[in-house]
Amino acid sequence: METRNKIKTILDKLEIKEPPIPLEKITTFFGLAVINYPKFPDSVSGTIIKDDDLLAIGVNDNHAKVRQRFTIAHELGHYILGHDVDKILDDEFDKSSDKEKEANSFAGELLIPHHMLESDLKNQIWTIKDLSQRYQVSEQVVTIKLLESNLINNKNLK
Ligand SMILES: [Zn+2]
Repeated sequence: METRNKIKTILDKLEIKEPPIPLEKITTFFGLAVINYPKFPDSVSGTIIKDDDLLAIGVNDNHAKVRQRFTIAHELGHYILGHDVDKILDDEFDKSSDKEKEANSFAGELLIPHHMLESDLKNQIWTIKDLSQRYQVSEQVVTIKLLESNLINNKNLK
């Protein structure tokens, strides 16, 4: 819930009112460059680069666009939640740690803000696929979000 409020505050401040969430507007606001790396191994999704004159999110450019969006949102989560960004290289090995879970749920909420999803489901009938296109995320991310927010049984979902 705290994460939800934190994200709502950022979206309000940047006047982001509807999906898809323009991540570049948010990374720019926080002074983070986004660098697309074509040479990351497939197992690495992203990282945060922080040295004297560069603060950036590195993202695996070989991954699908929706996955890159999730990675950027996940790395933003590490940064905004105050995790120790000097030590972050996101690969498939450390997904079970608390900080990884926090960054994942931050990413899910940033890409599909609760209030936007709730209002969408109030107004119209949707499939998971419709929602994944509207929010520019994978169908898996939509499904997790619907489950976590208890909206999966909504009558406007088919
Ligand atoms: Zn991570």
